[in-house]
Amino acid sequence: MAGYRNGDLGDHLVQALLADGQVRALAAVTTRTVEEARWRHDLYPTAAAALGRTLTVTAFLGAMLKAPQKVFVEIVCDGPIKSLHTQADAEGRVRGYVGNPHVDLPANAKGKLDVAGAVGNGKLYVIRDPGLREPYRGFVPLVSGEIGEDFAHYFLRSEQTPSVVAVGVLVQPDHRVRAAGGLLLQVMPGASDAVISILERRARELPPISSAVDQGKDAEGLLSMVAGELDVRVLRRLPVQFKCSCSKERFERALIALGEEELRDMLETDGSAELVCHFCSEVYRFDAKELSALLKAAAHRQQ
Ligand SMILES: [Zn+2]
Repeated sequence: MAGYRNGDLGDHLVQALLADGQVRALAAVTTRTVEEARWRHDLYPTAAAALGRTLTVTAFLGAMLKAPQKVFVEIVCDGPIKSLHTQADAEGRVRGYVGNPHVDLPANAKGKLDVAGAVGNGKLYVIRDPGLREPYRGFVPLVSGEIGEDFAHYFLRSEQTPSVVAVGVLVQPDHRVRAAGGLLLQVMPGASDAVISILERRARELPPISSAVDQGKDAEGLLSMVAGELDVRVLRRLPVQFKCSCSKERFERALIALGEEELRDMLETDGSAELVCHFCSEVYRFDAKELSALLKAAAHRQQ
């Protein structure tokens, strides 16, 4: 919460309870995060919407963990985007990429970005890494490829939690991300039928999330939009950002792990190496001098 005020332009996420704890609610504004993913990976509009929606839900999944736990989401699909890969931690840091960033399909029948067309059929995997030997892993087949519905299906089938997932990304004609955000509502065991029916009605009447964000709603604003007459208790507000954990040192270790022979070959054939981080498209260059030093380290290791 430190350093974060209402009205700040920064991305943020809010965790709350509705109706005296009968409903768990998360809401987020993720415009800058999705825009950063867009420029880092040169995402075309439909790909930006698909990854942006997935990053937003992944941020929710991360916020429900305890540090230093992490969550990984993978969507493997037969649409032109091929696959989506996202990660989040418990502190609002997310990163992700897609198999094919250059997906720009005509708008669907509703005039919206055709995320379902980009994704197609496939499977959604959620892997929670609690830092133990056996991470929790669940998966469901995709039901629509629209991402929100697919996660709602995942929560119901894999975690037995009836959920409403609404995520949206608005892309400008110049391909920049104009607004992005989302809502996740989960009905807790023991919730009353009255609360469930209020929630179902309000969820049906929800305006598009990305338009609400575009009109200036923050996460609390999105929550009150869906909560209506239900009481809202905010538990936590945290910043959300696109943040990758890669570094030159990590790539050095990976190169050393390739071994002496492989490194010598690299040095003799190309004289340098250029490695790209999948998650953030950051490029790490190693010149001949650096490669020689790594080669020495690898040789030393193999002795
Ligand atoms: Zn990276």
